Amino acid sequence: MISSVPANDRRSKLLVYTIEECPACGQKTKRAFQVGDYITKEASKCSKCGNTTIISLIYAESSKQLG
Ligand SMILES: [Zn+2]
Repeated sequence: MISSVPANDRRSKLLVYTIEECPACGQKTKRAFQVGDYITKEASKCSKCGNTTIISLIYAESSKQLG
């Protein structure tokens, strides 16, 4: 039953995430997707080494119903 997704649930929301990866040290940071994001785009500075990170992955998760 894990793979079953309720397709008729129109209220289910998708949460989109962006992964920023540092090409120098490999540090990965997950953050909320922002309009204009795309893979290979330059992102924020690496928190470890200060290099400019690159967006390496964008993916969506379905938000689970609370309660
Ligand atoms: Zn780094």
